[in-house]
Amino acid sequence: MIHAMSTARPRVLVTAALPYANGPIHFGHIAGNNLPADVFTRFQRLKGADVLSICGTDEHGVAITIAAKREGTTPQAIVDRYHGVIARILERMDIRYDNFSRTSRPINHEMAQRFFTDLLDGGFIEEKVEKQLYSVADGMFLADRYVLGTCPKCGHENARGDECPKCGAWLDPLTLIEPRSALSGDRPEVRETKNWYLRLQDFQPKLEAWIGAKTGWKENVLRFVQAMFKEGLRERAITRDLEWGVQVPVDGGDGKVLYVWFDAPIGYISASIEWAEAQGAPERWRDYWQSDDTRLVHFLGKDNIPFHCIVFPAMLMGQKEHYVLPDNVPANEFYNLEGRKLNTSAGWYIDVEGFLDKYPVDTLRYTLVATLPELRDTEFSWRDYQMRVNAELADTFGNLVTRVLKFAVSYFDGKVPEPGAFDASDEALLADVRACADEVAACYDGYTFRAGLERAMALAHTTNRYFNEKAPWKSRKTDLVQCATTIHVCIQAIRQLALLFHPIMPQTTERLVGMLGIDSPLGDVGWDAWAEASLPAGHVLGEPAGLFTKIDDDVIAAEIAALEAQAAAKTKGATMDAEKNVTANETTTDTTYEAPAIRETVSFDDFMKLDLRVGRVLAAEELKKSKKLLKLEIDLGVEKRQILAGMKGHYTPEQLVGTNVVVLANLAPRKMVGEESQGMVLAADAIDGAPLILRIDGEPPTGTTVH
Ligand SMILES: [Zn+2]
Repeated sequence: MIHAMSTARPRVLVTAALPYANGPIHFGHIAGNNLPADVFTRFQRLKGADVLSICGTDEHGVAITIAAKREGTTPQAIVDRYHGVIARILERMDIRYDNFSRTSRPINHEMAQRFFTDLLDGGFIEEKVEKQLYSVADGMFLADRYVLGTCPKCGHENARGDECPKCGAWLDPLTLIEPRSALSGDRPEVRETKNWYLRLQDFQPKLEAWIGAKTGWKENVLRFVQAMFKEGLRERAITRDLEWGVQVPVDGGDGKVLYVWFDAPIGYISASIEWAEAQGAPERWRDYWQSDDTRLVHFLGKDNIPFHCIVFPAMLMGQKEHYVLPDNVPANEFYNLEGRKLNTSAGWYIDVEGFLDKYPVDTLRYTLVATLPELRDTEFSWRDYQMRVNAELADTFGNLVTRVLKFAVSYFDGKVPEPGAFDASDEALLADVRACADEVAACYDGYTFRAGLERAMALAHTTNRYFNEKAPWKSRKTDLVQCATTIHVCIQAIRQLALLFHPIMPQTTERLVGMLGIDSPLGDVGWDAWAEASLPAGHVLGEPAGLFTKIDDDVIAAEIAALEAQAAAKTKGATMDAEKNVTANETTTDTTYEAPAIRETVSFDDFMKLDLRVGRVLAAEELKKSKKLLKLEIDLGVEKRQILAGMKGHYTPEQLVGTNVVVLANLAPRKMVGEESQGMVLAADAIDGAPLILRIDGEPPTGTTVH
């Protein structure tokens, strides 16, 4: 075994949860684990730590095979495509790993089988013939995500066979209430099959002792784990009756693979081995994984807590070789979008690459860090994004930089001016500049990235206030020394801001370093050296330029409208999918829709009695007296009608005025909340009871009949 020469550099091993290679990653993945992992890694590197950062795609399991079935292709084709897609998104987000690997690679199959064999040899794995859910319609055992049902812990109706997306509970498919096949909707029956079980109970005392000694772990993580201990760990199946995955390396293992959650975390180790081989030092991964002075940190969302705090540590404890256990697992809560859960199959997501085509990556990194779900569920909203870009980045940080540097160019020959004696307010700001480097460092090191960002932004605010109070544009005419002192002090604050924001906004801060006329990139200088130094009088500054561009209201309004349109279009598509019996993938669980039975047949003549026609919405207003109703004025070509529609809160009047809708024109009028409704606007009864208006393809004349 080759060990690196012992140095004083702390060794840090960072992992971010492996995304399933069955679709692009979205803001939830990025805010949930990739971005905090990246900020942490960049910070630790600045602090001089020896960091190895690892991620990759999770390419096994039912999430992949369902995606393949849905698209009529092979699992291999799915993972090949989405590994590339996800790697590109991370690249464009400036999220860098030392190795972004794949769990389907031979090294991971080999390592996962070795882990299994070690556990088997140690007596930690037992073989059991047990009852499993079997679907006659699908002709297969329904492992994991192939089965949906009601969560026995929280009552969520679309829990998956292996875990509940709502409460994060780790489930057994047999415990699901009212189970159904995710493929056919078929109600499965219970049949016997042989599988291998990991005896987690054998590790409980060691796990409890290990976690019990931890300090600085997040409350949400500890609560979750303690509840599992209290319930008592028991054996869990770690094999599945599937074809796609890592073969079970024992006799009788044919047609069975390791559970995806068994081989996925081993992917961190395999990726490290791959990295070491690429470095030409094939044993170097052991420095990180097998030395107790390594600080191993797993970044992940709360749904991954049981696997990273219980199962994977138990697997590591059961190996013949020694492995380090995680130092911390700073799990995040969930990240939502505009008040709703992110859901790609329902169209409720923002395409990351599309976003980055229009807006600078650092503004997104900043906004996501500012809203990280560190303590509770949080969300991205377009208006919040606009506020952060315009008020915080452009007006506070960017404007400070521009004002000060342009002042130096105009009146001090583009140099850092020679200061006079510092007065109390100069000293106060300089003290703040020095203090905040340590304070922000403590936040980044302690996984409270939002607090670090807020502390840095507080320095920008303080500096702006100082600049305004000192009014150098006045002192320039009355007291040139004081003016020079003010600009000198402001430049030191700006220089420090570049450091504080660097892990969050690497590109912007390196640009700022250039504007300050500093040749070496900040990343090469290091946190402590930068924090302690300052820019001397006479230093020649670079060319000032704007750091951020503000975003107009109408741009944001258009983005919100586009998101809603995307969701409406997808929901329409999902209904069509439902007809083809393809209702499930990992994110459709919330939209899995049980279509009601077809109603009694009506005659053609009965249908022709309905007068359906194209109407144009002339006016719309929300009825104050009603929680649900919008009052619409609709032109039917032959006459105008007042129609009340239960769409308040789902459509705004502005979204409807000027659009074409389909109206049932000969419905008997009726009164609601004192107003008459003269017809009905047709809409699909969608998920959440949100109506989705029927739209017309093209622009037929108002009053055109519809059959
Ligand atoms: Zn639940």
